[in-house]
Amino acid sequence: MKNKYFILTGIYNRCRGKKNIIMRIIYFDICAIPLFLMILFICYTRKMIRGNANQLFLVMTFVSLFATIADLGMEAPQAILPLSETSYVIVVISSYIYFILRNSTNVILLLFLLHLTRTSFLIQKTWSKIVFSLPYLSILMMLALNPFNRASFTVTRQNGYARGPLLMVFYIIALIYGLIGFVYSIYCRRYLRGTKWIALISIYILGYLAVLIQFLYPGTLMEMFCTAIGEMMIMLTIMRPEERMDSEVGVLSWASYQSDISNIIRSGEHVLISVIQMANSKEIRNYLGDHKYNEYVSDIAEAIRTIHWDRHHRTELYFEKPGTLYMIMNTEDDADEVVKRLLIETSKKIKHYSDTGVRFEPMICLIRVPENLNNADDIISLGHKFYLINSHKQTIYHASDIIYSQNFAIEAHIEEIIDRAIKDGNVKMYYQPIYDVHTGTFHSAEALARIIDPEYGLISPGIFIPAAEAQGLIIPLGDVVMEEVFRFISQNDLEALGLSYIEINLSVAQCMENNLPEKVKALQEKYKIDPKQVNLEITETVFENISEIMMENVKELTRMGYSFALDDYGIGYSSIQRVNHLPLQLIKIDKSMLDEADHENGRIILESTVKMMQNIGKNLVVEGAETFEMVETLKRMSTDYIQGFYFSKPLPEKDFVNFLKANLKQ
Ligand code: C2E
Ligand code: MG
Ligand code: MG
Repeated sequence: MKNKYFILTGIYNRCRGKKNIIMRIIYFDICAIPLFLMILFICYTRKMIRGNANQLFLVMTFVSLFATIADLGMEAPQAILPLSETSYVIVVISSYIYFILRNSTNVILLLFLLHLTRTSFLIQKTWSKIVFSLPYLSILMMLALNPFNRASFTVTRQNGYARGPLLMVFYIIALIYGLIGFVYSIYCRRYLRGTKWIALISIYILGYLAVLIQFLYPGTLMEMFCTAIGEMMIMLTIMRPEERMDSEVGVLSWASYQSDISNIIRSGEHVLISVIQMANSKEIRNYLGDHKYNEYVSDIAEAIRTIHWDRHHRTELYFEKPGTLYMIMNTEDDADEVVKRLLIETSKKIKHYSDTGVRFEPMICLIRVPENLNNADDIISLGHKFYLINSHKQTIYHASDIIYSQNFAIEAHIEEIIDRAIKDGNVKMYYQPIYDVHTGTFHSAEALARIIDPEYGLISPGIFIPAAEAQGLIIPLGDVVMEEVFRFISQNDLEALGLSYIEINLSVAQCMENNLPEKVKALQEKYKIDPKQVNLEITETVFENISEIMMENVKELTRMGYSFALDDYGIGYSSIQRVNHLPLQLIKIDKSMLDEADHENGRIILESTVKMMQNIGKNLVVEGAETFEMVETLKRMSTDYIQGFYFSKPLPEKDFVNFLKANLKQ
């Protein structure tokens, strides 16, 4: 807002070349326009059009752009006074539009801030909404009365625009919103960190500076230009599309989810989080290809959004690669009802995909915050692991059912448990015997790690191995495993127990360790064992990570006399071509393939796989034989070796040795 009367009558009339002067005055406005357009361009190309804060930012930019255009409409015609009939109408209409829009940007900026920091619930109550919007409403009221009382401003054909006696009220109200915003920004130090917070504070300071400059030098109409700079700063430092958005899918990013969860915890907001894990996302991505897959996720997000839009729920959606959508809602509605409706409606809306064979198969976890969990790390971790913690495969999981389980407590503390296990010697090796169909004896065994934690008891590798891999603890853990097994071999006479070798599972990271052969060699010398007594198991995932160093390791260990087995054949993308890539003597067929063998087709697949492997000269272990019938089926297929609960579960060292002794053939 500016002292237009002063500008237009004082300066103009004293100067020659009025058009030049007016051009100089409106230069700043003209420069502001491309800045706003650039911001809008970024918003649209980066798909920053979803999400409450994004939408408010978009509205704020549009409003500022139109306010600038209105400002030009107000200024430019006044280069020639007295105003013509048309110019007069343009100046009057532009003035009203300018004041309506310009004053609303202060309100929108504050709303944007509240949404960005997830504290908008502070003004959810009707009375707080009224208090919040009252100052702006009074500006609208003053503008509505202005044609009658001319209290805010006047436009005459002779002198153009001039301030009215009550125009100061507009300044005061802008100051009030500005002050609230400024104080709130200082408070926001809890929610926005580092440069983001500095940028926010600077925007308010810049705003004040612009008004001050304009007040002191009425000829420089810097307000809209400073607003444009401020919004550009918000875009570059706070919005950061590359960080806040998943631009490929057009939904807020995983980083935004993490920061919003932290803010929710800090502010104490009550929300319902639905973690929508698309169980088959990897397969769908492979089937559709990257581009189509992004469209598919984006369509699901759109379907979810429209459902909630209809219901007037305030909802934010986030996407985490490869296939998890997070939905944060402010609703007291029955969570199950919400999700059931969501499933039905979403399936309907993406029907065209299901016609091509793509099935939407989500697993959903419902978390009420803060009732179920009030710690950001726990919420994020539960979102990643809920379907692992609760072993029943179901569609809807409730955080309330999971968080009191022992597994959740273990998952939440897994890093310290593994650390403690490595340091305190809580990693114990169990051994599962492997049966030789040809001789009818136990021919080898697999070493399987367990953690016996003083606080949580026995923990299975299904929980701690993936965690150790993710936390970078698999190498020290693998070292302990290797040492334990080598010690076991050296302290027992394997041959006397009927065993040819012990199998040790190796993780990808271990295979890629550049001093793996040296480590093995050191253990071999320390415990004086024969490499033939060890068989190293690797899984198919190593094929996805084949590197020179891994190939070197495998070759070197083979040269040293160690043999390799391929574990878990039959899950993932097994290919016989891959089996040929590495020197593998033994193939271990995964339990899932055996489970499928109770159907005709599954049986044929298993049988052909057994034959094929034997034809290319591989020895074969089938894992997971639990029943007499399974064992009989495998014997009929002339499988070489069988491993399974039917013979024995994995046993602690002593029990295992006793088991073997008891089962030795006389
Ligand atoms: P794996 O290497 O495929 O081991 C076989 C798993 O199948 C073992 O589970 C074993 O207890 C289980 N199993 C064997 N027979 C049957 C059966 O008849 N029925 C059923 N339901 N299960 C059977 P476990 O001990 O829980 O180990 C799970 C996985 O953890 C292992 O799968 C392996 O990938 C990993 N693992 C275990 N110990 C280690 C280790 O020391 N290092 C590494 N890197 N991974 C390990
Ligand atoms: Mg194994
Ligand atoms: Mg296996």
